[in-house]
Amino acid sequence: MTGRVVKGIGGFYYVQTDGGVYCCRARGRFRKDSVSPAVGDRVEISVVDEAAREGALERIEPRRNFLIRPPIANIDVMLIIAAAANPAPSTLLIDKLVAICEKKNITPCVCINKTDLADGEELCRIYRDIGYEALAVSAATGEGIDRLRTVIEGRVCAFSGNSGVGKSSLLNALDASFAAQTGELSAKIERGRHTTRHVELFALAGGWIADTPGFGDISIERFETVYKEELPGCFAELGQYEGQCRFLGCAHDREPGCAVKRAVETGEMARSRYESYLSMYHEVKDIKEWE
Ligand code: GDP
Ligand code: ZN
Repeated sequence: MTGRVVKGIGGFYYVQTDGGVYCCRARGRFRKDSVSPAVGDRVEISVVDEAAREGALERIEPRRNFLIRPPIANIDVMLIIAAAANPAPSTLLIDKLVAICEKKNITPCVCINKTDLADGEELCRIYRDIGYEALAVSAATGEGIDRLRTVIEGRVCAFSGNSGVGKSSLLNALDASFAAQTGELSAKIERGRHTTRHVELFALAGGWIADTPGFGDISIERFETVYKEELPGCFAELGQYEGQCRFLGCAHDREPGCAVKRAVETGEMARSRYESYLSMYHEVKDIKEWE
């Protein structure tokens, strides 16, 4: 039988199958392998005791991607949440998250929330123009929530973005029972106290949403680095200028005859995207990947 690990606690893995959830232990041989099961893994299980809903984890399918903190495998879509206002959107944070998604083979979806306070379309257009999905939404008025629901349906999603942008409000707008589901768990963890940072998949809008109940936001930008060599590949629109700069290996920084800077001057490439690229480049330009 196959399923997906939705929760892992103290050596037990809760696996969602078409026939419900089984509580599984990993077979001994996983400990020798370099991979250990993670939330989000697609796995094969065997039933040990049907009445008690106990199983054994037999095999882990190859992963589409893996985030280290929090440990989670196979995220399909990263919902990158920013607010149109209050707090003012940070294009640098959005672009960092988009770049991490590119590196990790996660599909990004930019959601500009609080469109009842300010326009979100202008920001959305920057991302749509380079091939990403971008939604203007409002947890307060319900604008764009149906569209957001269709993005989540059938997929494993994670929310990211600064605190205060409205992630919890959006989760509640999507599914009113969500707060109750996670709130109960936070309370339990609060009592437990010694639990390590923990991630869990919750059913939401016909898909799954990764959340870290009781531990605040998933701040992946603090734990994932896009290295210098990877950076051009993580800015989708840079590909079209490859080979067009005067210098081979142009970093698109101070070099003369740079096709990317020319594209920014003519308005072909969004200035905010270029500024994010440069800022990320200067952050990592002296780091070697193995350090
Ligand atoms: P989180 O930290 O990202 O989970 O953000 P919250 O969901 O806690 O929201 C932060 C604040 O923004 C709260 O006061 C919400 O009521 C408010 N808020 C969230 N969504 C919207 C929205 O669409 N419009 C407006 N005007 N306020 C919102
Ligand atoms: Zn260049």
